[in-house]
Amino acid sequence: MSRYDLTRAEVGSLLADLPRFRSDQLWDGLYRQLAEPAEIAVLPRPVRDRLASAPELAPALRVERLVTADSGLTEKWLLRLADDARVETVLMHHPRHSTVCVSSQAGCAMACSFCATGQGGFRRHLGVGEIVEQVVLASRASRTRGRRLDNVVLMGMGEPLANYSNVLSAIRRLVADLGIGARHVTVSTVGIAPAIRRLASEDLQVNLAVSLHGANDGLRASLVPIARRYPLAQLVAACEHYGRETGRRISLEWALIDGVNDRASDASELAAIARRLRAHVNLIPLNPTPGYLATGTSPQGVRAFRDQLTTFGVNVTVRRTRGRDIDAACGQLAASPGAPTAT
Ligand code: SAH
Repeated sequence: MSRYDLTRAEVGSLLADLPRFRSDQLWDGLYRQLAEPAEIAVLPRPVRDRLASAPELAPALRVERLVTADSGLTEKWLLRLADDARVETVLMHHPRHSTVCVSSQAGCAMACSFCATGQGGFRRHLGVGEIVEQVVLASRASRTRGRRLDNVVLMGMGEPLANYSNVLSAIRRLVADLGIGARHVTVSTVGIAPAIRRLASEDLQVNLAVSLHGANDGLRASLVPIARRYPLAQLVAACEHYGRETGRRISLEWALIDGVNDRASDASELAAIARRLRAHVNLIPLNPTPGYLATGTSPQGVRAFRDQLTTFGVNVTVRRTRGRDIDAACGQLAASPGAPTAT
């Protein structure tokens, strides 16, 4: 249990002996001011002292290390959880918006060969409070720079749809209580088709990003093992359903790997799926990880692949790499405390 696990009623019960407005002030302190309970100035000193030692209000995360890159525009936290599991959270400031990339699990069971998190295996699901508190941390950090946190992407460590109920409760908390619009929340999934259908029925207009990487079953399964369980026909049908039910545009993520999925045939197979889904394609030049030897497609190769997709009428962008030198880029999150650091 941690402070952002509590429901409003549970927060109220901590101050049940006081007038109701005190628990409203505490809730406001947590969700609007993003304050430490002991620093909520409107509460009388004895109440704050009591809150400071309440175990239910303990933080879920301890910052073990903060590293920055891109002249301070990318910040990565290594966070230690109560049981010493570790996760990473990455905050990226862009000229007009700030986006936090949040972890949903400590480790990941999906074992995608080219992803550092997958290479390290699974430890456990994160709880609601552990997910929400990452956003609070990023929101506070944005505020100290005079910025506002605009977007939340569940693209950090873990497979969000494998931790479905905690991820959903956390998203509802972000939307209802932290004031982040559902349309500014993106769930990125390896492609768990039944969970995509379930998400479509939640009456929440979150964006869906699907990590495709291969547009035929053989290639995809060689990169993303879970594709054997949910082949493309099933995945694409679930995505179509998601688009129909929510009206949201889907994006397809594609890490470009030299000689593996950057051929002309890959572009045409990908284009067929993207057009069917009217999806946006996000190309990510592969970021290096310790357990995968292939390299990313060259910049010219990336441009050529992008141009082929454009020729097929597909809406495509190349994701600018952020935080590579601090292992904060896509697929590089591994949360090992001994990893080399840069500051
Ligand atoms: N499990 C979720 C979210 C985490 S990964 C998912 O699979 O979508 C976030 C994105 O980074 C995914 O699109 C993932 O495929 C991609 N990625 C993983 N390793 C990468 C690497 N080494 N280089 C570039 N992108 C990578």
